[in-house]
This record gives sequence, structure tokens and C-alpha cells, in this order.
Amino acid sequence: MTINQDMKTFIENMPKAELHLHIEGTLSPQTLLTLSERNNIDFPYQSVEAIEAALANRPAGLDGFLDHHYIAVSTMKTEADFYDVTLDLLKTCQQNNIVYIELFFDPQFHTSRGISFDDQFSGISRACEQSRLQFGVQSNLIMCINRERPVESAFEMLEQARPYRDQIIGLGMDSYEELNFPLKFKEVFQQAKKDGYRLTSHCDVDVPNSLNHIWDCLNVLEVERVDHGLMAVDDPKLIEELVARNMTLTACPVRRPTDPGPQDLDRIKTLFEQGVKVTINTDDPAEFETGYLSNMLVEVQEGSQYSKKEMVKFVMNAFTGSWLSDTAKQKYVDQLQEYAASHQVQL
Ligand SMILES: [Zn+2]
Repeated sequence: MTINQDMKTFIENMPKAELHLHIEGTLSPQTLLTLSERNNIDFPYQSVEAIEAALANRPAGLDGFLDHHYIAVSTMKTEADFYDVTLDLLKTCQQNNIVYIELFFDPQFHTSRGISFDDQFSGISRACEQSRLQFGVQSNLIMCINRERPVESAFEMLEQARPYRDQIIGLGMDSYEELNFPLKFKEVFQQAKKDGYRLTSHCDVDVPNSLNHIWDCLNVLEVERVDHGLMAVDDPKLIEELVARNMTLTACPVRRPTDPGPQDLDRIKTLFEQGVKVTINTDDPAEFETGYLSNMLVEVQEGSQYSKKEMVKFVMNAFTGSWLSDTAKQKYVDQLQEYAASHQVQL
């Protein structure tokens, strides 16, 4: 076996966790066609090839990504759609040896087009339970605020989620950039904290004011994790603060042809080597060439020439940075340590 093949197999077979993946970013071209036909939707693309071409030609940057993303997500309509999409995703997690995943969903986008919170939640949670039984993949759910929408709409979402409080582990925040969004949603996060949600927020890369957003997420929103957050690399004081807090950063070094060079790999390497708790995640795996987690980790290893020990460390960060109970966490940590030991990797 060549060194590369040995490393690839080591990564593929490793028991993994993922902390940053949006259910709505997992619709394959075939799924999009199936859903648009099933729901009689006037979808702009009529073939797998047309969808692939649209994906390849999206403008660079967050807006170019999201404009296409929301057209795709509009094909989801019924409780059964949410069930099917989530179950398909969790089956793919099993194929990637992901044993635990925290999944984002975006209720406001769906409620704004007439799909009840209850229907979304029912489909998603049924699939999570089925996956636990059928695939042995355990999951928890994080609902995200769309930060470009009004504060009242976020409070409304908290109310809609109230009956399911104990089945949704956390609150996050994503979607289009909104300048100084942490200040905008301070009261919503305070309420969510009182309600017992764990807290996280996206702080995207290469967008205006990203460093201030990260600082405000830490100090104003009191988040326990930061999603993306890689611009921290530009602020030594912030790096110090992230290390001191043992703050988890859920990095997503995703790739598409129209993006500028892969700077994220360098940012990740710098932060990782300075002791920041970075995890590797796929964000919206059907919408990026980097795809699902095994492939992503192989590309990250190849791009930065990490050792097996370092690859285990990235995955360990995801288990220890998860919101599982200490007991449940320990079970997975033990499993990963055994895997490393059985491959002569000293941690
Ligand atoms: Zn994301």
C-alpha cells in the first residue's frame, strides 16, 4: 500500500464527529429533481447536468453561494421531504464513519414560505431516530436564526420551538451577512440561554467586520462555539482569548471552482498550531466539490501534510467540542483512542 493510500484508508475508517453541517445543504442534483417533480415546483433546472453547470458557475463569495442554495432548498415542502432528505444525509454519514453529528436546520426560511415549524421538526426528528436505530449514527439538532431577518422573527422561532425544547440542543445563526449581527440578536440569545439552549453562531470568512463579530459573539452573545471564525488568525489577542477559553471553531475549508485560492487551509494550520481547538466540517456538502467528511479530511491532510496524530486531533476536537453529555462524550473519545492505538498512533 502506498503512503497516500494508507493515510486515506486510515482517515476513511476513523470514527468521526461533525459539528457544522446544514441539512438543507445536502440536496444532490438527483434529489432536487425528484423533489421538484414530486412537489410540482417550477424549478429552473431540468437535468442533473443543468444543476451541475449552475453549481459550477455560481459567483464567488457568500451571496453567490446563498442565492443558489435558497433556490435549491425551495424544493423541500412536506414533512416527508424533510424526513427523506435527513435520512439520506444520515445514511451518507454512516458511509463516512461519522458516529455522531450535530445538524443545523433553518426554520425561518421554511416557515416564511408556509411550511410549519412542526412539519419541519417532525420530518427531521423522525429521520434522526430512524438513523440511530438503522445506521447507528447519533445526532443532535441546532436551529439557526437567519441573521438578515428581523429580531421579532427570531423570537417567533423560539416560541415555535418551545414544545420541542428538549429535542433541540442548541441555537445557531447563519445566512446572509448582516453588519454587527451579534448586537442585533443579543436579547434573543439571552432568552435562548435562559431556555437552556447551547449557543453558537456563524462568523464567516472574508466578510466585512469579521473580527469584531467574533469578539462580540464571545462577549455579547456568550456563544460556546464559533462556526467558521477563521479570520481570528489576523488578531493575536483573539487567538489568545480563543485558546484561554478552549473555544471550538468549526472550520469548513470547502472548495468550488469560482472561489479564490484555498486560504482557509493556511488559516486552519496557523490556528491549529497555536493551540486553537479547530474542527474540520463540510458545511453544505452537496454544494461544494469537497463533498462529505472523509473526502474533506483527506483533502485537508493532503493540502497541509498533517500526520496521522494531527488528523486524530482534529477529529478528537470535534468529539470533545460537541454538546454531548460528559458520559456520552467519553464513550466516543475512548472509541477514537482505541482506533488510534490500534494503528500505532500515540496521542
Ligand atoms: Zn455553515
